[in-house]
Amino acid sequence: MKNKGKDLHYILNILGEECTIDGQTVSPPIHQTSNFSFITVDAIRNAFKDEFSARLYTRGNNPTVALLRKKLAALADAEDALVLSSGAAAMAAAVMAHVKTGDHIVCVKKPYSWTERLLSTYLNRFGITNTFVDGTSVAAFEKATITQTKLYVLESPNTFTFELQDIRSIAHLAKQCGITTIIDNSYCTSIGQSCIELGIDIEIHSASKYYGGHSDLIAGVILSNKTTIEKIFNTEFLNYGAVISPNDAWLMIRSLRTLPIRLQQIADSTNAVIGYIKNHPKVKKLYYPFDDSHPQHSLAQEQMNWCGGLFSVELNTDNLQAIELFCDSLKRFKIAVSWGGHESLVMPACAFSARENFSHTYLPANLVRFYIGLDDAKFLIEDLQQAFEKIE
Ligand SMILES: *Cc1c(COP(=O)(O)O)cnc(C)c1O
Repeated sequence: MKNKGKDLHYILNILGEECTIDGQTVSPPIHQTSNFSFITVDAIRNAFKDEFSARLYTRGNNPTVALLRKKLAALADAEDALVLSSGAAAMAAAVMAHVKTGDHIVCVKKPYSWTERLLSTYLNRFGITNTFVDGTSVAAFEKATITQTKLYVLESPNTFTFELQDIRSIAHLAKQCGITTIIDNSYCTSIGQSCIELGIDIEIHSASKYYGGHSDLIAGVILSNKTTIEKIFNTEFLNYGAVISPNDAWLMIRSLRTLPIRLQQIADSTNAVIGYIKNHPKVKKLYYPFDDSHPQHSLAQEQMNWCGGLFSVELNTDNLQAIELFCDSLKRFKIAVSWGGHESLVMPACAFSARENFSHTYLPANLVRFYIGLDDAKFLIEDLQQAFEKIE
């Protein structure tokens, strides 16, 4: 993993924790409180004037969440961060803070399903329109841009077929047109892809994935400059109230301490599994940005510092029974949505539609997505081997 000389251990284990060292606790406290009291009426009056800076109520600020915000911002080279109760809430808040009736959004095709739903269905109710474009082409963004375009929404790579966008070029184009850019960076994490350095205005994460890392919490992150974060805080963040609990914030602080070693382990195991699966006679096609068969392999090498965990294959069969039998036969891969935890997962595209009509509109019917957790690759390969034998 290329971490560009950043002191990750400092950010994840020391930054912001000075106070807890004074108190001689090595682990920070969980401030499980909903509100904060004041000595005088005038003191609480001052807090009302500027809730962004004040400690008034946990829907706004909470010290445990504040420690987490500091670490997430440092990890992304952002000035500030907000932590929300889910990745979907983070995307919705960031988008809603930047549009009004009559505005237009250009979004990459095939983004995360709830991002698509937000733009294509929900926002239409408020007269906000959108165009979904082929993200592999910068020109497609330019062509779709109209006078009313306020936002570009990116996700690079996406998490089933792993198409990339040229982040630097699209951010540059947006700046020229006065358009705000939002990217979903959940696949890479801020360690794996420095979107803000590449020129993006707002970076979003589903922290339910690698940041939580243990499949035991749901959370989302918004990263940006101070002005933008304060603007979102005072509107969507306080209004929707989709905040993380202090307890879950503490769990994420603990998980982040091992993020770099988890990412390293996951990348190593992913490489080993891909080495096995890639040339298997039952596999027709591999989808993985760091494999040289990926059509945007050189762009991936250029803008991503890390790749791992998630990849997809097309099986060499269109027989639904065989696809299901293969997945059902896997013992070390659980059949489940999500990813980023300790457990390895499998998710076939055929599960997204009825058996009678299993060719999904977006995805090839024989596509199977894998997530490699913290397992030793040797046991995963053995498991794949026995499952492939079942369909031979
Ligand atoms: C999971 C996911 C989300 C949504 O995050 P939640 O925490 O589940 O709300 C958004 N984007 C991507 C790429 C995801 O994988």
